[in-house]
Amino acid sequence: MSVEGTLFMVAAPSGAGKSTLVNALLEREPAISLSISHTTRPPRPGELYGRHYYFVERSEFEREVAEGIFLEHAEVHGNLYGTSRTMVQELLAQGRDVLLEIDWQGAEQIRRSKPDCVSVFILPPSRAELERRLRGRGSDSAEVIERRLRNSRGEIAHAHEFDYILVNDSFENALADLQAIVRAVRLRGALQWQRHEGLIADLLAAEA
Ligand code: 5GP
Repeated sequence: MSVEGTLFMVAAPSGAGKSTLVNALLEREPAISLSISHTTRPPRPGELYGRHYYFVERSEFEREVAEGIFLEHAEVHGNLYGTSRTMVQELLAQGRDVLLEIDWQGAEQIRRSKPDCVSVFILPPSRAELERRLRGRGSDSAEVIERRLRNSRGEIAHAHEFDYILVNDSFENALADLQAIVRAVRLRGALQWQRHEGLIADLLAAEA
């Protein structure tokens, strides 16, 4: 019997370095699948349909909401974002761990439907650094950057709702912290007991 995978959620204010950290984590931990969200945000240069997001029109997104295809969805920085229910459920049922890059509103919805999920919030090391990283990305307009900076306080105010909070000061340290969280979660007794059922039965078997 394969043990159901764990659902991880990672949130951060825009510019905290979340996607870079998550991509580095996925390279180190190939057993985690990243859920590809649907969004009405237009693609940034270099972003691909189906790889970074499923980019859709607002009318299509709204139809998908009505059809109930989303596990959660929310409006963030003026665009709609949502997580596909079937994709996540199928992967978890196959025993894969799944990671969602999500905002605090989506995380709140997921906690209600899947209380055993594990959530991580990434903080930037300072306000100045957050601003520097957002401006340095070079792919967003000044107006989009201002909006994201304004919204960062609203996102950060929810950090205490997350199971883990890490500060992305040194990239390597933050990555090590993120990987440590994933590894510790995988080693939890209840999961290991199921995973190693055969071994445990063997170890507990009475002497012949
Ligand atoms: P970006 O436009 O920079 O890719 O993402 C903006 C924000 O939307 C980020 O906080 C990101 O985590 C969040 N986001 C991305 N996908 C989803 C999703 O499927 N659901 C929710 N609730 N938020 C998402």
